[in-house]
Amino acid sequence: MINVSTNLEELSWIPRPRLLALRRLGIETVEDLLTHFPRRHEDRTEFPHFPREESDVPICLCGEVIKTSLRRFGGWKKIFEATLQEPQPNALSEPLVCRWFNLHYVQKMIMTGQRIVVFGKPRLRGKRICMDHPEFEVIENDEEISIHFRRITPIYPATEGLSQRVLRGIIYRVLNDVSGTAWEPIAPRSLVRARRSDAVRAIHFPETWEVRDAAREHLVLSEFFAMQMLIAARRFESSARPAQAHCGAGALPDKFLKSLPFELTRAQRKVISEISRDLAANYPMNRLLHGDVGSGKTVVAIAAMLLAVEAGYQAAFMAPTQILAEQHYEVLRRWLERLGVHIALRTGARQEESGPMPLFTRNENLGSARLQRAGDGILPSRTFLESESTLGAHYSRRRLPHFEKPWAIYAVTIATAHRRSLSLQARTIVLNAWRHFHNTRYELFAICVMPHHVHALFQPWPKNEASDEETTFWSLAELMRSLKSFSAREINRAEGKVGSVWEKETFDRYIRSDRDLADKFHYILRNPWDAGIAKPNEDYPWVWTQDDEVHIAESSSPQNATTSTLQACAPQISADEPQIIVGTHALLYEDVSFSNLGLAVIDEQHKFGVAQRARLTAREPAPDVLVMTATPIPRTLTMTIYGDLDVSTIDEMPRNRGRIVTAVRDTSKLGEVLSFLRTELERGRQLYVIYPLIDESEKLDAKAAAAEYELWRERLHPFRCELLHGRIPAAEKQQVMDRFRRGDTNALISTTVLEVGVDVPNATVMLIENAERFGLAQLHQLRGRIGRGEHKSYCILLSSNQTQEASAKLAVLERTTNGFEVAEADWELRGPGDVLGTAQSGLPALKIGDLKRDADLMRRARAAAISIFEMDPRLELPENQRFRRLIVEQQGQSFSHVS
Ligand code: ADP
Ligand code: MG
Repeated sequence: MINVSTNLEELSWIPRPRLLALRRLGIETVEDLLTHFPRRHEDRTEFPHFPREESDVPICLCGEVIKTSLRRFGGWKKIFEATLQEPQPNALSEPLVCRWFNLHYVQKMIMTGQRIVVFGKPRLRGKRICMDHPEFEVIENDEEISIHFRRITPIYPATEGLSQRVLRGIIYRVLNDVSGTAWEPIAPRSLVRARRSDAVRAIHFPETWEVRDAAREHLVLSEFFAMQMLIAARRFESSARPAQAHCGAGALPDKFLKSLPFELTRAQRKVISEISRDLAANYPMNRLLHGDVGSGKTVVAIAAMLLAVEAGYQAAFMAPTQILAEQHYEVLRRWLERLGVHIALRTGARQEESGPMPLFTRNENLGSARLQRAGDGILPSRTFLESESTLGAHYSRRRLPHFEKPWAIYAVTIATAHRRSLSLQARTIVLNAWRHFHNTRYELFAICVMPHHVHALFQPWPKNEASDEETTFWSLAELMRSLKSFSAREINRAEGKVGSVWEKETFDRYIRSDRDLADKFHYILRNPWDAGIAKPNEDYPWVWTQDDEVHIAESSSPQNATTSTLQACAPQISADEPQIIVGTHALLYEDVSFSNLGLAVIDEQHKFGVAQRARLTAREPAPDVLVMTATPIPRTLTMTIYGDLDVSTIDEMPRNRGRIVTAVRDTSKLGEVLSFLRTELERGRQLYVIYPLIDESEKLDAKAAAAEYELWRERLHPFRCELLHGRIPAAEKQQVMDRFRRGDTNALISTTVLEVGVDVPNATVMLIENAERFGLAQLHQLRGRIGRGEHKSYCILLSSNQTQEASAKLAVLERTTNGFEVAEADWELRGPGDVLGTAQSGLPALKIGDLKRDADLMRRARAAAISIFEMDPRLELPENQRFRRLIVEQQGQSFSHVS
């Protein structure tokens, strides 16, 4: 008897090539095989009588071959025909003619007198009923036949190297051999009644359609339940973490709200009160705020931050791009400085505030001076993503040295040229060089600078401005080039030397697993001692890990700094710290920049992965976290991808909003469109022209952007245009935006860097070129840039060569400006995976359930999971042990809250 965990290799009857093909599908055990569920089923139950009419659904028939013939037509072409008669013919019976064109082997397989089963669509050809190219089989053994025909037959997802028949045959046999008691139930009895083994059997070979449906429901519920247990575990785990209340009495936010030139909407008020309840509680807030573009999320976020500030905590406001961070900063300064709130901006390009800047003072510090680093250091924990899970990530293959994966982690070694020895000063320069780009271009886990080489462990980051669909990563080669030249220049300058510092080659290795990461990490930390550069009880300051930054912050008062001569000169962090820090998401990695973080607000969550959020929530003590998104999320997704968050919704727009009219126009109508644009410009309104770029990073496209810009300048003359795209340096970009905001510029020709959050109320016209190339969600985001003031706004979607698909998509936008409707339609057109990148959620992939179709089952599974946790949050009861195992199995690590 075989078991669910039996490896298929142990089954000697499966030929080796088949095993290999199965393994390519990730199928190794009996359980893997039997949970390779059919994609659909075909009704191949046998019809007792031959049809007399055509049918659009294929049917299964069995009969005796009474005649065969081979006919030629058109020279070399051949038709083979086999005429079948039904088993118990009567006077009214019609024979069935099966035909195969140019299939030589069929004629060798079928002979008069045989019984065969066929499956196909009957068609009327003249007076005859024909079936062209049916699936067929000669009946020699009735059991074998019954696997593939005369039943509701499973059709599996397409598999390379395995035909449906072979796969079906293997599954059939394994199902017969596997012990029925081997299947442990997944879902509780309250959710599913039948035995899991019966459901598995029935999903493959159901007796009836009702049985199939029941089996599917069982398996979907089980799958959803497992997922919801994982989500609930995360949720209970995070709410059990120690945290403080971060809520002031409310006088400060009140003062702020009173100073606004408008009244809050009912929805905004409701959400603020939901947030303040969370802030006041002594468990960490994990809340998602979603509201359509322009619904006024920023004001809500500010009110929340002021509550935290009033209670004596810092608040952080993180935006996905520099432009947005700058814009938030301006808004906050305008509204809050007069309330005496101290605000700071922290982005790669600009650091600004009235007080000192603790972030920068840190750069003078070197690695901490703890002795003997063996086994020391907090190991970075990572998820190793497969390339398909990093949705939309684009990695140019042209940027060799070798193929580089998004989110890859590398261990690199750089040697000095001609074994040039790095002086102590040079080592400091190198270490600082690496730390300089840390958190802007990559994340640095560990580094050690040795006299003749550098070892580092790091992960390249996406480049900042890229939008969702065109994420480009810093390439290894690019990074090495800038690190080497940057540090070489500094070293030569400091030492008054010339000549090369570094070897041309860099040794790099791609890290493949947590194990690998841990090994490399410890190797780097131990290196100076293992290599004998430092004595066992001696300090080596040029070893650095991320937690050193925290230690530096903690120990940076002079009396603690005696451990290191280098630290002795570190300036003290001022007590006068900003109360609100605005920055990009990179702020997350700047541990030191917060001394007392109470609330973190993350704007535009859809640009922000679960892993990053986890990073924030893992801090001790845990801050409250509010993530905001303008991409409305359909209900089922809020139960899954964001299932561990509480959800607040702003479902109402401020009343003063002008209408947005959207129109799709063919490129041939550009003339009319232009004259319309000019009229609006003459009325004093401003214009966005958006054009798509495939890859922001390509030089070629910068050229295209420039050409585009010239064209538009001519078209709109004498109105003033400016150009905005991803390759413009951040500072300049900011100036362009400022001029547009002030109205100095009439039109902005831009790529999708404009996509999120930009707020210029007088800009009321938007023209999107090649609109069909954008996704619906993105178009909706873009359109959200207009309609922000009281003027009526216009969005024109220019599109050529409209396919049916493209026009269906664009028509959605003509029809509605409601983001939720757009999101639903998007889901309808593309499927949920694409809408938000389920893969990024860190949840297991679904094998059978369908997030949209099975929304109701998801609701039931969620309720069941939550109720188990509510009764037994630590899963201690004996009857809940199997659920605990279920969670541990899925997340591949222990359930820390429980164990
Ligand atoms: P989003 O939700 O897209 O981030 P914002 O917070 O940027 O939207 O708000 C868009 C604009 O609406 C801003 O100019 C903001 O000042 C304004 N606004 C916010 N709330 C209201 C309100 N209740 N009434 C009128 N205008 C508002
Ligand atoms: Mg916003």
